[in-house]
Amino acid sequence: MKPEIGPETKVVGVFGYPVKHSASPAMHNAAFRACGLDYLYAAFEVKPEHLRDALLGLPALGICGVNLTIPHKENAIQYMNELSEEAAATGAVNTVVIESGKLKGYNTDIEGFLESLSEDAGFTPGEKKVVVLGAGGAGRAISFALAKEKASELIIANRTARRAEKLVSEIRQKFPEVKIKAMPLSSNSIGEEISSCTLLVNVTPLGMKGEMPVSNTECLHEGLTVYDLIYTPLSTPLLEEAKKRGAKTVNGLSMLVYQGAASFELWTGKEPPISVMKQAVREEVIKRCK
Ligand code: NAP
Repeated sequence: MKPEIGPETKVVGVFGYPVKHSASPAMHNAAFRACGLDYLYAAFEVKPEHLRDALLGLPALGICGVNLTIPHKENAIQYMNELSEEAAATGAVNTVVIESGKLKGYNTDIEGFLESLSEDAGFTPGEKKVVVLGAGGAGRAISFALAKEKASELIIANRTARRAEKLVSEIRQKFPEVKIKAMPLSSNSIGEEISSCTLLVNVTPLGMKGEMPVSNTECLHEGLTVYDLIYTPLSTPLLEEAKKRGAKTVNGLSMLVYQGAASFELWTGKEPPISVMKQAVREEVIKRCK
């Protein structure tokens, strides 16, 4: 059992804006309890204009580390003293570890995404055509991961087309063998691209409140795996429509667990209790959706 919270308790947490939807506190606190670790995980609602102060204040407060979620993953890079190879390559940080008063930025979204894609969908991206909707912090990590895993073709669609174009040019430089293209999320050609791909990944928040990230759903087909990073709610209109059309569907729950497990290991040096974390997230999300 985890000891009582006291003066020795080590604090970690998540910075996001908004952050109320996060299931990470339930997941990490359950993991700390199960491992008997004197740690506490808290959610901090940090506005974008306060990110610098919040991050630079971590060593002063003795906080061991934080996760970063929407919208902080890219902006945080400039405040890191050191970056892991993955964080440097993707230009996005989702885990910060404080070591000797310095901030080291990691990106565990890559590992979380690939593990869950393989475990939940039995999908390997090698030689496959993939459409990614979104080019924010998590969209960057996922697109780099897919290119690294040798996807044959990548289409990145984003509301702000320039952001997708920038990401495409960065990936092209690092992985010249991947056929890659950017397009606006509103483009009529997205349907055609989805019709001929085998994996569609939604990395936008569209679906959390019942929205559809794509206007044409006829392109969703039986040979397709649709992966929606959203986990609250557990199913989105995109996943429901994909199911109706015979596609395989995966929600963001297991990615949350695997990226969180990698953060847990970075902060504590201990092996994460995956099954405890999965159960805690599922219970938390079900509780919220009631
Ligand atoms: P982010 O860095 O803030 O990027 C947000 C992305 O969503 C951008 O591509 C943005 O497009 C797009 N977007 C936001 N609002 C939109 C709207 N109203 N219409 C169309 N596009 C919109 O956030 P992030 O960290 O990448 O997170 C993106 C999503 O993935 C969130 O829903 C987050 O909860 C989820 N996520 C899940 C996991 C998991 O473990 N399951 C892990 C990471 C992220 P613009 O460039 O045009 O602004």
